[in-house]
Amino acid sequence: MATTIPNINGAVVAGIGTGTEISGNATRRSAFSFMPAPSTLSTALRIPTGSLLINSGPSRAGRVDSFLTGFRLSSSSIRSFAAESAGEQAEADSSAQGIENLVIVGSGPAGYTAAIYAARANLKPVVFEGFQVGGVPGGQLMTTTEVENFPGFPDGITGPDLMDRMRRQAERWGGELFQEDVEFIDVKNTPFTVRSSERKIKCHSLIIATGARAQRLRLPREDEFWSRGISACAICDGASPLFKGQVLAVVGGGDTATQEAIYLTKYASHVHLIVRRDQLRASKAMQDRVFNNSNITVHFNTETVDVVSNSKGQMSGILIRTVDCGEESVLEAKGLFYGIGHSPNSKLLEGQVELDSAGYILVKESTAKTSVEGVFAAGDVQDHEWRQAVTAAGSGCLAALSVERYLTSKNLLVEFHQPQAEDDKKELMEKDVQESFDITYAKHKGQYALRKLYHESPRLLCVLYTSPSCGPCRTLKPILSKVIDEFDQHVHFIEIDITEDPEIAEAAEIMGTPCVQFFKNKEMLRTISGVKMKREYRELIRANK
Ligand SMILES: Cc1cc2nc3c(=O)[nH]c(=O)nc-3n(C[C@H](O)[C@H](O)[C@H](O)COP(=O)(O)OP(=O)(O)OC[C@H]3O[C@@H](n4cnc5c(N)ncnc54)[C@H](O)[C@@H]3O)c2cc1C
Repeated sequence: MATTIPNINGAVVAGIGTGTEISGNATRRSAFSFMPAPSTLSTALRIPTGSLLINSGPSRAGRVDSFLTGFRLSSSSIRSFAAESAGEQAEADSSAQGIENLVIVGSGPAGYTAAIYAARANLKPVVFEGFQVGGVPGGQLMTTTEVENFPGFPDGITGPDLMDRMRRQAERWGGELFQEDVEFIDVKNTPFTVRSSERKIKCHSLIIATGARAQRLRLPREDEFWSRGISACAICDGASPLFKGQVLAVVGGGDTATQEAIYLTKYASHVHLIVRRDQLRASKAMQDRVFNNSNITVHFNTETVDVVSNSKGQMSGILIRTVDCGEESVLEAKGLFYGIGHSPNSKLLEGQVELDSAGYILVKESTAKTSVEGVFAAGDVQDHEWRQAVTAAGSGCLAALSVERYLTSKNLLVEFHQPQAEDDKKELMEKDVQESFDITYAKHKGQYALRKLYHESPRLLCVLYTSPSCGPCRTLKPILSKVIDEFDQHVHFIEIDITEDPEIAEAAEIMGTPCVQFFKNKEMLRTISGVKMKREYRELIRANK
């Protein structure tokens, strides 16, 4: 059975329909019968300046390969070209044993920042970005739209865009990234062991940056209104135009919920605090602040049943029910904020490093050091208080610098140097146009390439439909790119940004992104929606190439 990332589709479709999962649609039909061959196109298409991670071909790839190969080879072969570094002898020793300097688990702001710093320090960190057990690769910000408080983006930036930039920066400096969940960690023995479904790695140091997940109520319409009325972060979303001057509600009775309620009174016309029990669990000081704030109404003994919408499909209220007599009513509110706690993703370390009673990894004050030497923690997995992207990034930096210091002090550090290939990387961002199109390349972008290849390619066509605000699209691109690399001469890959080429998306009946369609000889073989494991794409290509 195909594996999907939970909730992934609901978050992606921004303005283009529902993200309904339609995996395994094996209908065989001819497609794009309307599509004129590109020779009939009178003008070459405009090149947008949008970014594209995966667009390479054999001749470009030929040059790029020498750069990329370093990342695809086994650790031991990568190590051979690093022999010029100062730690030649140490390297040879480590190489013989196959021990990495550093493994980072997690790909949120903490994990990627740690990867950037460690890679810049020539540690060649191995990063497990995760796949689905602890949230999506890229972390919590992949599920949000605008991030308005991350420094350096005065006009805001979408969460997926921000994480895409961090990922590219980590990769550019030599981070070795794997979109796999870590299933097992042993830090009781040295070197440490980290195992995913696809590989087992020994390492001298470890950064745990697995984040935390905001607990959800699982309301019937929660996915529909997530980021469109329902939020798990008042500090992040409270000031957004959607909520300013509106009546809002917070659910929960602890410190988080009371803090959120107080914070939201800065923006809301009024705030309702919905509490299931007959009292608040928050500290006395927080309770006083809530009860003394005339802009907050506390509803004790009240359960949140669902959200309701108006005729325009916007969230307009909350269906609540009294605990004692089960009476239901609608509380008018334009936003609902969850303040019911977070679960840190620390299970892998249970019984190995010290955790607090809620499962957060304990670090020594103002450091990233855990109770085990060589194991560091960064981001939300060790922070139950601040939980912001910038604090997570800051702690990722701290962890990476600490690792460098630790490895040096133990004489374990092996440096790796990679050749710079900036020009090649820039070339990979371009969309195909008439002049630059080369059918011998495996990877392409845009409708010009699709039209051309649809009519002229004897290979299997793999068409990936994406949209700029779609977080899971960023997740899928590197997955698919790696699979295409395995079948280089047998597949043509084309990325279609449905906002740039809407007519193509319409003709292909694309209802949500990401979506992949496979064609052979002008016949559509299969549509796969959402993000699947590599093996599903691999098997399909193998069977049809
Ligand atoms: C809806 C929403 C909106 C937000 N908006 C903002 C905002 O506007 N501004 C702001 O500053 N903060 C915001 N936040 C908070 C911010 O997202 C977090 O504080 C930040 O992402 C924490 O970063 P992190 O790196 O610690 O962890 P996360 O972002 O949670 O990332 C954890 C990573 O670990 C990976 N992982 C987990 N388990 C495993 C495993 N077993 N193997 C491999 N990988 C694993 C996951 O896949 C994920 O990539 C928001 C949070 C939410 C939920």
